[in-house]
Amino acid sequence: MDGTAVARALPLQVRFFSGESVGSYVTRLAARNGLSVQQLLESMGEGLSAASVDPRYTELYLDRAGREQLAALSGRPVADMVRALPSLADEHLLPGQGDVPVWRWPWSPHDGYLVRGCALCAAARGIDTPVWMVRADTWHICVRHARFTDNSRDDARPFIDLSPGPHVVEAEQKVRKLERRYGRVGRAMVADAFGILAHDAARLRLGARRTAVLHLLPHVAALAESLLSVEMRRLAGRLTKEEHAHWHLNRRKDRGMHLSQAFATWSSKHSLLPQDKVAPGCCPAQPDPHSRVGGLQSVDEVMCLSAPPFPVPERPYG
Ligand SMILES: [Zn+2]
Repeated sequence: MDGTAVARALPLQVRFFSGESVGSYVTRLAARNGLSVQQLLESMGEGLSAASVDPRYTELYLDRAGREQLAALSGRPVADMVRALPSLADEHLLPGQGDVPVWRWPWSPHDGYLVRGCALCAAARGIDTPVWMVRADTWHICVRHARFTDNSRDDARPFIDLSPGPHVVEAEQKVRKLERRYGRVGRAMVADAFGILAHDAARLRLGARRTAVLHLLPHVAALAESLLSVEMRRLAGRLTKEEHAHWHLNRRKDRGMHLSQAFATWSSKHSLLPQDKVAPGCCPAQPDPHSRVGGLQSVDEVMCLSAPPFPVPERPYG
């Protein structure tokens, strides 16, 4: 160690909730031990902002030394903490200031959105308080309990029950499967499918209702799969000019004229690659023309088309 006193594990621990925000986790850990968040953070190091902030409003960020102290307080290895809490990944750490751990609650999360975790998943882990996750997008679908949650802070309607419309959960499962199988290319094509379907020229616009994602998702899942069928071949240099034109023509036919402008834009951005840019293996890290495909980048940031951004109003659900 570097001479900093390493904190001892707190007497009582809380279970991880996968994808939870650091602020939400620390709030639970402090409460479990009868401490205020302020007391817990001050035991760790020097803050750069108020010590007590409601975790539904912003995220808590740490530097490398702070991350080590939090792991010590939790009695868990740093690697386990990073797996469970996305904002503890190296890319989200605050710049270090030597040995003294530093923490900060900015006005809003640096990356991603705070989205309410599924209360039934939480209950299954013995958690009876609201849990906030850090997500790339403004929503989360629990496929296990068929619940849609989002970044609303409104306690009156904390989730939407999706069991009456199982096609949405099926679409979410399909989207996840594509992202698992095709990595960043999969994520990019899901984002582009959102972009195409929400394109200015399309009738299926996102509009101001946040639940628009529920209506779009089944279409997105189907379209993303179709985009991937050409995109994987294009990136590998195995798509001919004729196939490229043919695919485009067919999409215009089966999706209707109102989307033809969006498909034209997409096709022009995903033109055939010159031989020296072709990647023979699967799934380049930043698949052309997408330069920002990462852990907490939202579909709005990832898509290569400009579409009306997902609204972030205070009061959701239309
Ligand atoms: Zn759940």
